Amino acid sequence: MTSFTIEKQGQEINFDSSFADVNEVRKYLREQMSYNNFAMNLVEKKKVSEKQIAWMHYLATQSVIDSQTPVEFGPYKQLVNKMYDAVAYRAGKFQVRLPGITLSTVNKGANIGCVYVFECDQYVGKITQNGELKGNVSEDVKNLLEDANDNLLQLAKIYGHETGTCSVCARTLNDPLSVQMGIGPVCAKRFG
Ligand SMILES: [Zn+2]
Repeated sequence: MTSFTIEKQGQEINFDSSFADVNEVRKYLREQMSYNNFAMNLVEKKKVSEKQIAWMHYLATQSVIDSQTPVEFGPYKQLVNKMYDAVAYRAGKFQVRLPGITLSTVNKGANIGCVYVFECDQYVGKITQNGELKGNVSEDVKNLLEDANDNLLQLAKIYGHETGTCSVCARTLNDPLSVQMGIGPVCAKRFG
């Protein structure tokens, strides 16, 4: 096992590489579908410095460690799944207005798989793909998210009763059944 040192954000990191030599590292990184641009540039370089070799060992070793660490889910994983199931039902973005908050899936950029949280039309935070909440979110919003995690459709219906509009498509609820349910029948299906 070979030890390396790299400097990352001003800090020295010592680690033992999981790989015998740099060619093994290259091979491993090339096989990883998800390796980043930084790693890819290093892998494809013709000449690499000692420093760069250490970095390649670091990236590959970290990747091995990550792949062996079981993923832990945050408290809102169920909500994220529900939101993206609704996207699968009809392609595009899924947004739902609830009493006090609005939730939205993300269909482009680096945050695909996350759920954005809005309070009074202001972005306040996001729930990651793994169900963890990031951002400066009030206790009230946290309580609403916990509620939404268990009862998303129920909250959407409450919103419909309170506002007279559908929480998904924003149309006025006219039809007697929709008024009674608090949501339009087509939009209700998206909740599974
Ligand atoms: Zn609707």
